[in-house]
Amino acid sequence: MENNPYNPFHAAQLQFDHAAEMLDLDKSTKDLLRNSLHEHHFLIPVKLDDGTVQVFKGYRIQHNNARGPIKGGLRFHPQETVDSVRALAMWMTWKTAVVDLPLGGGKGGVICDPHNLSESEQERLCRGWVRQVYKIMGPDVDIPAPDIMTNAQHMLWMLDEYEVITGIKAPGAFTGKPVGMGGSLGRKEATGYGVIITVREALMELNISPADTVASIQGFGRVAQYAIELYTQIGGKVICVSSWDQTEQKSYSFRKLSGIDLEELKSVTDVFGGIQKQKAEDLGYEVLPGDAWLEQEVDILIPAAIENQITIENVIKISQKVKIVAEGANGPTTPDASKIIEDRNIFLIPDFLASAGGVTCSYFEQVQSNINYYWEKDEVLSKLDIKMTSAFIAVSDFAKENGLGMRDAAYVISVDRVAQACHARGWV
Ligand code: GLU
Repeated sequence: MENNPYNPFHAAQLQFDHAAEMLDLDKSTKDLLRNSLHEHHFLIPVKLDDGTVQVFKGYRIQHNNARGPIKGGLRFHPQETVDSVRALAMWMTWKTAVVDLPLGGGKGGVICDPHNLSESEQERLCRGWVRQVYKIMGPDVDIPAPDIMTNAQHMLWMLDEYEVITGIKAPGAFTGKPVGMGGSLGRKEATGYGVIITVREALMELNISPADTVASIQGFGRVAQYAIELYTQIGGKVICVSSWDQTEQKSYSFRKLSGIDLEELKSVTDVFGGIQKQKAEDLGYEVLPGDAWLEQEVDILIPAAIENQITIENVIKISQKVKIVAEGANGPTTPDASKIIEDRNIFLIPDFLASAGGVTCSYFEQVQSNINYYWEKDEVLSKLDIKMTSAFIAVSDFAKENGLGMRDAAYVISVDRVAQACHARGWV
C-alpha cells in the first residue's frame, strides 16, 4: 500500500513532504503534520429492514486542530479505505488554512453503498456512526459535514442523535443541515459556486472572458451541478459531464456540443448524481466512455468526482486547447500528472483551494447555528465570494512573487499557517 502511487494518503504525504522541504520545516513539526493527530476506527452494527444486522466499518480521522476545532465531511462510499480518509483529513487541514478559517481538519467515512440501503437503514447507520464517536465530537471539538453520498438529511439525523445522547441542543455540532433546521442558505451551492469563483478569477488573470470559454466536467453530483449553474450564469458553456452508472458499475460521459441543459439533465439523474443513460440519449446526449470528459477540446476541465482521476496514464489525453484545470474534487490529480499539467503551462487551481467553498460556508453555518441567527442568502454568498476571491488572489500573488506553481504556493501558505499555530501553542 505504502508504495502504491495511487494510494491517496501516499500522494498527500508526498505533497506535504515537498511543502515541508520548501518551508524548511524542522523534524518534529514534520513528524506532527505528516500523520493524523487522532484516528478513530470502529464498527457500526445496523439493523436492516429484514431484521438481520450488518456491521459497517467507520472512521473519524482528526488530522490537526492547532488552528481551531476539527472540520471536515463524512463520506459514504464502498471504495473508502482508511488511507483515503487519512488523505482527505490532511487535505481538510490545508483547505481550512488556505481560506484562513479558524478551524482544523479531519474526515469521516463509512465503507458502504447507500444505493443499497433503504432510507430507514441509512438513518440507523447515521445514528450508529454518532453513537460510536459522540465523545470526540461537538461544536467546539469536531464538526462533520456532508461529502460524497451524504446529504442534509443525514446530517440532521446525526445531529438529532448527538443531541439526544448529550442532552443539549447543539446545532453547531454538524453543518450542511437542511435549511430551516439549522442549515445555512447557500450551503448546498457553496462548493460548486466556490470552484467557479476561482475559475472566474483565473480567467481574469488570463484576460479571457468567461463567455468565450467552454468546459468539461467529471461528475454530476452536488459539486458539479452547482458549478455548472454558476459557470453558465457567468456566460460559460459546459459541453460534457461524466457520471457513475450504478447498474453497470462503470462511468460514462454525456456530451452535447451545443451545451448541456442543467435542468434537463438533472431530470434524468438520481439523488447520487447518476445519469440514466437511455433517458439522456433520448434527450439528444451522446453517450461516451467514462474518461471521455478529459479528452474534450475545451478551455476548462473540472474534475469534480473522486481522487486519482487524472493520472500519468491519461494526462496525455488532455487537449492542447485546455487553459485551466480547476480541481473541484479532493485529490483528483496524482502528483506525477499534476507536474505534467503545470509543465504544460495549464493554469491549475489546486483542490484544497478550488473546493474550499463548502467548508467556508460550513463555517458560516456554524457561526449562524451557534448564535441562533440566520443570514439572508445574498449575505452568505457575498461573504463566500469575498473569502474565496481573497484566498485565490493571495495564492496567485504568492505564486508569482516566488516563481511557484499554484499548488506549491497554496501548500506553502497553508502548511506555514498550520506549522505557525503548532509552534505558537508550544507543541513543537
Ligand atoms: N466535504 C466538504 C469538503 O471536502 C465540506 C467539508 C465541510 O464543510 O466541513 O470540503
